[in-house]
Amino acid sequence: MEIAAINGGMPVRNETIYYGRQWIDEDDIKAVGDVLKSNYITCGPKVKELEQYLADLTGARYAVAVSNGTAALHCACIAAGIGPGDEVITTPLTFAASANCVLYCGGTPVFADVDPETYNIDPISIEAHITEKTKAVIAVDFTGQAVKIREIRDICTRHKLIFIEDAAHSIGTEYDGQPVGSLADLTCFSFHPVKTVTSGEGGAVTTSDKELYKKLLLAHTHGITHDEEEMDEAPHEGDWYYEQIGLGYNYRLTDFQAALLLSQLSKLKQFRERRKEIVNRYNTAFDSIPELILQKEIPESDTCRHLYIIRLDLTKLTCTRRQFFDAMSAENIQCQVHYVPVYWFPYYHHLGYKKGLCPNAEKIYEGIMSIPLYPKLTDLDVEDVIHAVTKIVENYSQ
Ligand SMILES: *Cc1c(COP(=O)(O)O)cnc(C)c1O
Repeated sequence: MEIAAINGGMPVRNETIYYGRQWIDEDDIKAVGDVLKSNYITCGPKVKELEQYLADLTGARYAVAVSNGTAALHCACIAAGIGPGDEVITTPLTFAASANCVLYCGGTPVFADVDPETYNIDPISIEAHITEKTKAVIAVDFTGQAVKIREIRDICTRHKLIFIEDAAHSIGTEYDGQPVGSLADLTCFSFHPVKTVTSGEGGAVTTSDKELYKKLLLAHTHGITHDEEEMDEAPHEGDWYYEQIGLGYNYRLTDFQAALLLSQLSKLKQFRERRKEIVNRYNTAFDSIPELILQKEIPESDTCRHLYIIRLDLTKLTCTRRQFFDAMSAENIQCQVHYVPVYWFPYYHHLGYKKGLCPNAEKIYEGIMSIPLYPKLTDLDVEDVIHAVTKIVENYSQ
């Protein structure tokens, strides 16, 4: 057996690999530079072009580009009309923003449990948490795998709830042959650098509902409209005139970010194929290791995977997750954990949420770790990651 680096052995590699990383080419840099040399640097023609591109890509009627994925979720909650007294059902196995956006609106996040095999929100648990106060569901395509859209859509229709999909992980994923972005009432994307495509910071909401679209537009730019039909006074003052008809925010994306994202989106197919190749390689390597549990996929999801999670079967290992994680770091493979159940955080604890709410999510959390997954990984990098994982498993195997 090879000695783990943490116990004094040689690390599998000398240069650290991180769990996620953007891929920026010369053409991305040129696209940004071109905008910086033009007349518009903030919300101008590139943002419009991006919104059209996202609508075409997802098959949604409308897309609104915003400053980040959290802003996208906040705008979606505003459009859904979430306010004090309203409950919104979401998953605990997500980035905090998926629940925080409900709090921004004065609503109450309610955590439904996840499926023990796919780690995505379980429609049965959603239904079990519905009360007369429930107004919406925020379902997260965790790691990029689509949630059970048909079942959730059906629940939302029967209970008259707005279906918001947090697709921060899942751009490029299809559900039953349909792109994510066209299936929920509102779909939210993030373009943070660790996500599949990036604009530095950035986000978008897609919808096919005109009323929701109008609300998104107002929410992301101060509640201001230039559309006379929307105005109270319609005073025909002239082209300069606009009205603030609601309370909104400044969540606009800049034109140079939009240009970067358009350039990135032109490579989405290529990114998606490379991510798939790496996922297949990992699956093949880890499938036969009894100490590791792999995330299951539903057949409806043709997944553009954002995160690759290994789950340690701690009953078969002599280490804790912490020790495994540190041992991987010593091999120069920097992993990450996605995610601490949201309601475990002190802020949520102070709001009255208690441990034990979602036993499946808590159990999954104990053993999970995200290993490097991004298109820029070379085949050799991928082999190093596999080598490190197998080596550490061997070192701690019972
Ligand atoms: C990244 C992420 C967000 C927030 O996106 P930002 O662009 O970082 O604001 C929301 N939900 C999930 C699931 C995410 O992973």
